[in-house]
Amino acid sequence: MTRLVEETPYRWRIDAEGPMRVPGVVFATADLLPDPSADQALGQVAAVATLPGIVEASYAMPDMHWGYGFPIGGVAATDVERDGVVSPGGVGFDISCGVRLLLSGLRLDELRPRLDALMDALDAVIPRGMSKGAVWHLRGQAELEEVLAGGARYAVERGHGEPADLERCEDRGAVADADPAAIGARARERGLAQVGSLGSGNHFLEVEAVSEVYDEEIAQAYGLWPGRVCVLIHTGSRGLGHQVCTDSVRAMEAVMARYGISVPDRQLACAPVTSPEGQAYLSAMAAAANYGRANRQLLGQAARRAFEQATGDGGLSLLYDVSHNLAKLETHHVEGRARRLCVHRKGATLALPPGHEDLPEDLRAVGQPVLVPGSMGVGSYVLAGTPSAPAFASACHGAGRRLSRHQALKSTSAARLRAELEEAGVAVRGASARGLAEETPHAYKDVDAVVTACHLAGLARKVAKLAPVGVVKG
Ligand code: 5GP
Ligand code: MN
Ligand code: MN
Repeated sequence: MTRLVEETPYRWRIDAEGPMRVPGVVFATADLLPDPSADQALGQVAAVATLPGIVEASYAMPDMHWGYGFPIGGVAATDVERDGVVSPGGVGFDISCGVRLLLSGLRLDELRPRLDALMDALDAVIPRGMSKGAVWHLRGQAELEEVLAGGARYAVERGHGEPADLERCEDRGAVADADPAAIGARARERGLAQVGSLGSGNHFLEVEAVSEVYDEEIAQAYGLWPGRVCVLIHTGSRGLGHQVCTDSVRAMEAVMARYGISVPDRQLACAPVTSPEGQAYLSAMAAAANYGRANRQLLGQAARRAFEQATGDGGLSLLYDVSHNLAKLETHHVEGRARRLCVHRKGATLALPPGHEDLPEDLRAVGQPVLVPGSMGVGSYVLAGTPSAPAFASACHGAGRRLSRHQALKSTSAARLRAELEEAGVAVRGASARGLAEETPHAYKDVDAVVTACHLAGLARKVAKLAPVGVVKG
């Protein structure tokens, strides 16, 4: 069993033993640590610490839980110049899955009389579930390639949104070095008919309202005032991203031995960043990420139209769009030296500190918005990157799953859940009975505790809480 040493009430260390090249560091309170009898995530933190080229530590965020190879909530950086590896399992199957928060001009009391109309309008324009169509009918493979290369930028070019949206997107809406040619035929086939669709289960579009403000100055810079109605969208790169991950894991499994790499778990398949296989993965991952960015842009624009139609308020402005499943080449200071690192964030959000050059000018002084969904009917948080920016400037990405889908399904019924939500004033649209039950709030950790742990560990500052008003579930 993995032994934890308490460094502070919010930070635990797994000392480097055996093949581990660096220690593990888990940011969490004792209550939030995974239960070793039910969840092997701590062992996964230790296993990630064996990866070639890993620097500093194998990190985990307070919402951590078991994942494919890497834990969800895992952050690991490898030194590109010292044979550091990239691992598809460190990004996850839903490449560039992430969240976008749009702000309306309405107060909750102004929306209330029109809430049903708004939810019906959203219900009508947001495609969801498996293979249920999409907002955008691509003209064929040539146009899919434009999406893969241009992400949200291409979507805006084609009239799906406003140029100002891009200022508030991570990477200004598109990841560089995407190569559509690195994406296989099966992934392309899956991607053609899904751009502009929510997906299933954990993905959602939620209407929320600012319910609490913790940091006046940053909240003001973000435009988060009490009662302000907003829309939170959580989705990723759909079947295309999933297929890219599957194909890449297979390709890396086949070449690891040739590079002299051995890993304690097959799911940690990887290759040196600078190898042809590493480069092929990063090019395909970037293209899949752009598909995810375009997807969120399209759904944001569809929500804008629904708002306009139902409330007369078409002014949804984008606060931020950020992914929580990605590997990025970044420069960080490690042991007093600037190094080129491949930073894997899997179920972890980039949290750029105040002053960072990648931030839009009007947010630079206060740091990056970190968007943290809680669970259905419970609400969400907005945090901000901190000056100390630990774990390569990363923070939690949600409350984190506590029960498996199967356990969740056994614990409640969809009808009961729907009634509880309606009772609490949360309108529900979409969602299969099974999907709804799998997503019961009891299936997730306590988001208040997770966010407080993030705040006290210095990963990100609490700025505001958002209360749910209506949810469209995938
Ligand atoms: P993931 O990317 O790991 O699938 O999900 C991210 C987080 O979204 C989860 O850890 C959970 O806290 C949150 N989440 C899942 N479903 C919902 C929902 O319906 N509403 C809100 N606000 N959050 C959710
Ligand atoms: Mn996802
Ligand atoms: Mn996600």
